[in-house]
Order: sequence, then C-alpha cells, then structure tokens
Amino acid sequence: MKKVLGFLAALWPLAGIGARAEPDCASPARIEAPIGGPLQRLHRVEDYQAILQSCTNADKERLAIRAMRVGGEEFLLTVDSKSLDTSIERRTCWTCREPKGTSRFQQLVAQFADDPGNRLKPGATWLDNAGLKHGHGEGAFLTADLCPSRKSLDRDFLQKLEKAGPATQIALSVSGLWIAHHPEDFDWLRREKAEGRLAITFVNHSYTHPYRPGLPTGQNFLLAPGLDKDREIFDVERLLIANGETPSVFFRFPGLISDAGWMQALKDDHLIPLGADAWLALEQKPREGAIILVHVNGNEPLGLSKFQDLSLRGALPTPFLPLTRAP
Ligand SMILES: [Zn+2]
Repeated sequence: MKKVLGFLAALWPLAGIGARAEPDCASPARIEAPIGGPLQRLHRVEDYQAILQSCTNADKERLAIRAMRVGGEEFLLTVDSKSLDTSIERRTCWTCREPKGTSRFQQLVAQFADDPGNRLKPGATWLDNAGLKHGHGEGAFLTADLCPSRKSLDRDFLQKLEKAGPATQIALSVSGLWIAHHPEDFDWLRREKAEGRLAITFVNHSYTHPYRPGLPTGQNFLLAPGLDKDREIFDVERLLIANGETPSVFFRFPGLISDAGWMQALKDDHLIPLGADAWLALEQKPREGAIILVHVNGNEPLGLSKFQDLSLRGALPTPFLPLTRAP
C-alpha cells in the first residue's frame, strides 16, 4: 500500500498540468468520435470563438481562426494560408501572436467580401450568388448541398461517383439540421471518407438553413429576421468538430442568397463565400473550372440526372478537384 501511495505521490505534480501523456505535436489533433457511434452533440465543443493569430510549431506556420475547448483541452482550428487546408491542432503545441502582414488567405477573404461584383444592384437589398463562383484549373469543382430534408441522402449518386477513381473529390455543404436529422447518413459519409472512397471537403451551409416557399427573397433564407449570425456559422463548425471532422474555410449561403451584413459576418469570421456557376438543375452548363452545384439531400433529382447525362456524354469537365484549389 505504501508503495502505491508513493507512486501516486510521484504522479501528483503531473496532475497540475493535465495528467495527460505528452501531446503529439507532430500531427494534427484528433477529436475522438468513432464512426458507427452515436452523433456527438455540438455542446461538446465549448468556448468557441473566432480569432486570427499566426501560430508556429517547430518549422510549421499556420493561421488560427478559431479557439475552443473539448473535454477540458484547448484546441485551434487552423488554416494553411497558402493551400487553404484546415486542421484541428492542440493549443499547447503552438506559439501564437498577432499576424504580421497579410497572408494569401487573408487577401482572399477580403477579396471575396469586397468584390465589386457583389455590390447591390440599384433598388435591391440582397445579393444573389456572391462569392467564389468559378475556379482555376482544368477540371471542375463538384459541390453538393445538404439542406434540411425529410428525404434520405442520395447514396446511389455518391456510390456511382466513387467509381470515378480512388477518393473522388466532392465538397459537401452541410446544414446543421441536416446532420442532426440524418445521423446514419452522416455516419455513412464519414465512413466513405475515412476509408478513402470520397475525399470530402465540408462546407458550412448554416445551422438552421431557413426556407419558406412563397416568401420574398429579401426575407427568406438567411435574410429571415431574428437569426443569430454567429450561431448559424459556429454551430455547424462545432457539430462537425464534435464528430471528429474538420470544417473548411468555405461557407455556402442557403439559396446562394446573402446581403452586405452577411458578407461582413463571413469576413469577420474569416470565411470565403462559395457561389456556383453550374447549378445543373437550373440548366447552367459546366465549363472548365466550373463550380458545379447539385443537391444530394433527396430534394433535387433533376440535378443528379443532368449530372449523369452530362457524364455519359463526356460533357463534364474532369477531373474533380479539391475545392481549396478553386480560388
Ligand atoms: Zn441549401
């Protein structure tokens, strides 16, 4: 017994610094959320805040855009300012300070927020399809939206897509309510990603994604009165992180509808608005560098059949590229 107490006493000083094993600072952090387990609640991610700091760890340098706490430990959501890849990192592994100068990522955020093409037309109060609408490179950027829906995920479509090659690139714009109401479909997506069949970039599509048929556009979607902008943005990110996934730097407005206030909110939260120039159900034709838009939430089969038609006719620009390469 004496021996055991001595052993515990020797450990005691460690308890003050968290009583954890030395953190692995060489690789990004993993928030445990086993595939096949229950959906984790967003409240698991606490004290969630937008920040902007330049952080270093050994020879690595990243911008931190969010700070948070999970299970008593501090984490950061970080961006590679050149490649735009995001990662979750342990706060304790990084030394952070005010950013000096303006990185490529900060320039992009400012550019899309202030893009003259986004200015309001005379008499209009809202913006349609503001933000990144067309990408660079040979191929296209496939984006698929998951607005709240009573229907199931279009798994058949995604499984056909997987046959295009290993880890087919797709950006999924997820709404918080879609994830909350489709835990099994979300789990299925996580598995397809983890096992290398789909390379998924998660795009924020707002938490509640309001839509009421018949309401004027200027009062519909995220322009519905009474919304808390930070919650619409942050709660999707928290839900993704709570479930072991990593949000990207992209935000797609429901219906592609926004206004100056929302553009400012995205800028303040260091996000890039994602539009589209080939919404297939609207008969928009994809050319090289297109940002293709379909829905895989069961609500827009027309877009998926157009996709198959174009694919069969060889009229889809390929390969599909990671969305981070679009700006
Ligand atoms: Zn939507």
